[in-house]
Order: sequence, then structure tokens, then C-alpha cells
Amino acid sequence: MTSTPVPAAGGGVACPVGRDWSLVSLEAKLDRLVALQEAANRVEAEKVEVLAAIAVDRDRRILADCPDEDDTEAGTHGRLEDWSDAPELVAPILGVSLGVATGRLHTAVGLVQRAPALVAEMAAGRLDGYRASMVHADLADAPAAVEAAVVARLVGHARKVGGWVEPVGPLRRRTRTIVARCAPDLPVAGARADRRDRGIDVRGLSETLDEWTWRVPVEDSRLVRAAVEEHAGVLRSETQDLSVPQSRSDALTALVLDHTKVTVHLHAAVPADDTASDLVRLTGFGATDTTLVPTTWLRDALDTGRAVIDQPLLCDPNTGALIAGDITRGFRPSTRHPTPCTTTHGATTATDVDPRYRIPAAIRRFIAFRDKTCRFPGCSISTTFCDLDHVTPWPHGPTSPHNLIALCRRHHRLKQTPHWNVRLLPDATTEWTTPYGTTITTSPVNLLNTIPPAPNLAALPPDPAVDDPRHEPDQPDLRDLRDLSPMERHLTELLTAA
Ligand SMILES: [Zn+2]
Repeated sequence: MTSTPVPAAGGGVACPVGRDWSLVSLEAKLDRLVALQEAANRVEAEKVEVLAAIAVDRDRRILADCPDEDDTEAGTHGRLEDWSDAPELVAPILGVSLGVATGRLHTAVGLVQRAPALVAEMAAGRLDGYRASMVHADLADAPAAVEAAVVARLVGHARKVGGWVEPVGPLRRRTRTIVARCAPDLPVAGARADRRDRGIDVRGLSETLDEWTWRVPVEDSRLVRAAVEEHAGVLRSETQDLSVPQSRSDALTALVLDHTKVTVHLHAAVPADDTASDLVRLTGFGATDTTLVPTTWLRDALDTGRAVIDQPLLCDPNTGALIAGDITRGFRPSTRHPTPCTTTHGATTATDVDPRYRIPAAIRRFIAFRDKTCRFPGCSISTTFCDLDHVTPWPHGPTSPHNLIALCRRHHRLKQTPHWNVRLLPDATTEWTTPYGTTITTSPVNLLNTIPPAPNLAALPPDPAVDDPRHEPDQPDLRDLRDLSPMERHLTELLTAA
């Protein structure tokens, strides 16, 4: 196949869209795909170099700001310092989380400094960024000389067989085989390091599903899997129409919960949408969004003490932000320490002010519930691990929810540098100004699932939410706290209907 890419800025190809490809031969379409992939590889090579250069740039800035740092080679430095704000700068541009941005910056620095032959292959259009990053990841713990030797052999192999023809799996196996020959001790050291990376990550997949990523040592994994399969088989024999994946999920849930005694706190912040549904919308569980759960689950959980419903919470009708409520003592936004909790019968409000610098426990709980995570753009660290920061330093700014936000240690420190600025607005949104002058806004948890107002309402059709009684912008009235919310009335009806 031959390709005739149209030259474009940056050495790529022009990409006109809207062409009728049904009139083009298959060979020409495949040729075009080759050209586009080569162009994408070249763009990835340039992105790697730019990301590495940004990391070096921000490292120099940090070392210039912190003359006490034990590093006198700022001019030639480049490794992505722990306190670099490069991830914060590139994450919104790439549209990824701070964790992913940090990983990409580390990979870029590593590729440029330790595996320039791979970057050269990308720049020539022969290798894509994903496989290059996977090869580098398998070599990241190896000495630089070993990585260079292994990369040279991989490049030589690709030349010999006519290109990087292996997909990721076989390529990584080849990489590890060469590493084992070049440095036999490394795989053993790597296995020890891998075991330290065991852990669990949980993320919300939808309103009804969470997704767990579990990194577990192989020997434990085999045993747990055998136990899950055994119990899943029992469940399938008891329940018709239960698929194998569903039965595995149910079995693991049962095996864990049968050996623990935990309680989740649910909050009546959202009226039920559909009284005829077998699903009910709840706030709680430590999630940042509302959740749809079966009413049968809710009834059982309340009966068995797995769940309790706390006092109703008063929310801003426009932003859904917490305005007033009694966040029970012992409550945590996550379910790590869910019990015991006691109701304090004294609601905290967004306008409360305490004369002291030290933040009272009730205001701490209020902020933790309102913010749920660090308020820096893109940061998802739970308030369990955050500091509470006076946005305007005390005593110039009060100890009050309207001057306090949750910030993780990293972003607390970043906020105190001269490069980043933040304002906390009356509706609890924050406005961050980056070192290059752009503004990024972050919102508190929207407990009402309201839709933010559009920037130019006059140019848009009427918002149907305006006619919805639960969105009426009434002034907050603390007397509402003593009444049953629609949610509570709905729950009462559901639970007494059985
Ligand atoms: Zn943070």
C-alpha cells in the first residue's frame, strides 16, 4: 500500500470530514487509515515532547520559588517534582483527571529522557503512543542503561519484521523476556514492587452501578475467585434468570457483608421522582451523586440496621448546594467509619460564623458534606483526607461555611503559592484563576440534581424546571427542617405499604 497524505501544519495530514467514502475503493480507504495512523503517531510524539517540556518548566519554577530545596541543578532539572502544578495545568486541556495527567507527564518525561528511541519511532509515524508508554511502564523500574538496551533490541526486532506488528499483550511479553535476559534480578524486584501496588479503587459508573478495580496478589485472587464461584453457583441454583456475572457480583457482596456490621446514612435531600417505581432516588452512601436503589433493598436495609435515614437537609434551589442541616456526629462522607452516629439536633447553616480560628466540629461536618471532595478543579480526593481552608485568611475572613472550603494537602499548598487564586462565591461555587490567567469553576455537591442556569437565559427556550414546584426559588426557611420532606413522606408510604 502507498499513502499520499496531504501535508499540514505540524507534519500531519489534513483531515477534511464529510467526504463520501462509499465512492472510494477499499485499498484507498486502507491507505488513508495508514496515513492517519502515522499522522496520529507523529502528533503523539510531539505531545510527549511538549508534556515533558512543561514538566521541566514547572519544576524550574518550583525550585526557583523554594530556594531551600536540595537541588542546585534547576537549569538541567526535569523529573516532575511532587509539588509541581504541571498536572493541574494540563489536565483540563487533555480532558483527563489529575491522576491520569500526572501519569502522562511522568510517562512523557520518562520516554524523552530514558527511551528517546521510542519517541523517534513515534515521530517517524511507525509506533503509537500507547504501546510506547506500555513498553516504558514495563521498564520504569530498570536502570536507564537496561531500558536503553531493551528498547534498542525492540526497535531492531521491529525493523527486522517490518514494523511494530505486535499488539500490546505480546509486545509487553517480549519486553519482559528481553528484560529477564538482560537483567535477571529485575523481574524478582518488580514482583515485590507490584505487590505493594495492591488496592481497590471505586468509581461511580451510573446512578445504579459502581465499578470496582481490585489489584490483588495472584495467590489470594485464586482463592477468593474459587469462593465466589462456589457461592455464585449456589445463588444460581436458587434463583432463575441469574446470569453468571450477576451471580458472581451478588456472591461477593454476600460473602463480604455476611462478615461485617456496617451502616450507611441516607439523606432525604431529593424528592422521589416516580412514586410508582420500584426504584427510589437517594442521597447518601458517600457518593457525590444521587443514587437509584430498589425499594425492597431500602426496606430490608432499614429493618436490619444496614441503613438509617438522617434529618432532611435544606439545599439551594438553584445549585443544589447544602444550605442548612444537621450532619450527624460520627458521619463521614465515605462509609469507612459509618458508626456510631448521633443526631445533634442543631442545624448548621451556610451563614454561621464562629469567632475563633479553630473550626467547630459541626461546621467541619457541614463543609465535608457540602464539598464531599477537595474543591480544586479535577481533584476527587475525599474530604476525609482534606484540610479545611479559610479562603480569605483568618481573621480577615471569618470561620464560616461561606469562607471555608475543603482542600487536599497538595492543593492547600498550591493555593498558598502566588500562581493560583481562588474565590468562594455565595452559592458555594469556587472560581480558580490559573497561572496563565484562565478561570475554572468548581461546584459543591448538587444534592437536588438541578441544572445550572445557562449563561444567556434570554436566548434559550423556557426552562421546564421553573414550573416544577420542587425547584421554586423560595428563601431558605429553617422551619422546613422540622417537617417531613417529600422524600420522607414517599419513603413512609413505601415502607408502610408492604
Ligand atoms: Zn486536591
